[in-house]
Amino acid sequence: MDRACHDLGMRDEVRELLRRPMREYHALLPLQMDNGNRRVYEAYRVQYNNARGPTKGGIRWHANETIDTVRALACWMTWKTAVLDLPLGGGKGGITCNPRELSDTEKERLARSYMRAFAPVMSVDRDVPAPDVHTTPQIMAWMLDEYEIITGQHHPGVITGKPLPLGGSAGRADATSFGGMIIIRDIDEALGLKLNKAHYVIQGFGNVGGGIAKLLHEQGGCVVGISAEDTALYNVKGIDIPSALVHYQRNGQRLAGFDGADEISNDELLTLACDILVPAAIEHALTRSNADAVSARVIVELANGPITPSADHIFRDKGIVVVPDILANAGGVTVSYLEQVQNAHNYYWSLEQVRHQLDQRMSGAFRSLWELSQERSISMRDAAYQISVERVAKACEVRGWV
Ligand code: NAD
Repeated sequence: MDRACHDLGMRDEVRELLRRPMREYHALLPLQMDNGNRRVYEAYRVQYNNARGPTKGGIRWHANETIDTVRALACWMTWKTAVLDLPLGGGKGGITCNPRELSDTEKERLARSYMRAFAPVMSVDRDVPAPDVHTTPQIMAWMLDEYEIITGQHHPGVITGKPLPLGGSAGRADATSFGGMIIIRDIDEALGLKLNKAHYVIQGFGNVGGGIAKLLHEQGGCVVGISAEDTALYNVKGIDIPSALVHYQRNGQRLAGFDGADEISNDELLTLACDILVPAAIEHALTRSNADAVSARVIVELANGPITPSADHIFRDKGIVVVPDILANAGGVTVSYLEQVQNAHNYYWSLEQVRHQLDQRMSGAFRSLWELSQERSISMRDAAYQISVERVAKACEVRGWV
């Protein structure tokens, strides 16, 4: 962001405003456990910048959640909504907790408690949460219900990623992988690769990684490497993704023991020869220590922040094209926006209509970034930051904030 501000000749006060969240809220959530004991959880909501519209961003439940991770994710959401030119700002929320230790009834009480704490700073026009790591459509449903109990009215657009009966959108569940697929199609075209001839390696086999592996396989792509936290798999002839998905679900989200491929280490997976590497697991997967060994032609970041800045430099020097997370994984927030639009009109679209809109928006954003990166001879990440920082800065300026 600093580099974009410098290259765009932004004034210091603009940079000062964009470097930090505009508002952040902290709460302590006391929770009655099923055994009668009480525990207290720390919770956060960060509204990073709302110059372009209501802040938007998911709520993470994670043992390692801190105010700093929430700030970083809220910052990325600000650039992500701006890259897609959605009329939204960026926000994020979280609870420091280990959801694996909570029963369903404890999760429901925690979800309702979070909404009671933050409802005063949330509304359709102010701040709109969504699911993120370890939060689900069911958790969104409990939060929406609590919000509507507090306000005494229906407000389906106050939260997205809801189950369909409460005003969720068709196509929301796999929107991030579907959006990623559109980007892979477009980068393949731009570089003259044939989607169904290229070789793909995917890190992470959850919602996003499993989803993109399935879509690539369906389109005739050859997925030679996949991984989950426990192990990685390699088959030069291509892995049978539908069977691997069944194995992963049946074995407690593990890939070990799958028949149709050789087990390799997670480190080896990232350096496999392939056309496109898709990190779709965790942040900081590619660092200074393993970037030199990466031999992919293109990296499409479906995880948030999988490449450290020093690894990014190495990829630039090696001529590896990186499609940045703030574009590549924006399918989820784009369909969340479409969900809000449907909620506002109380009129719902078919899956085809949603996917058509998603395709147009993702593809349009891809084209703008690609053309700018070619025109200015800069990376796609720098192009993404120049476009988004300029859009947010412009909105701040016309409001008279800077
Ligand atoms: P998930 O929990 O469903 O899946 C994560 C996967 O990564 C699992 O298969 C897990 O085993 C694997 N994994 C974890 N640590 C690993 C490691 N060290 N090495 C290899 N694999 C590892 O999560 P998800 O929803 O698929 O999210 C994945 C990433 O995508 C996150 O960075 C998330 O922020 C980002 N993202 C998700 C969405 C969404 O809609 N779910 C939207 C935008 C961005």
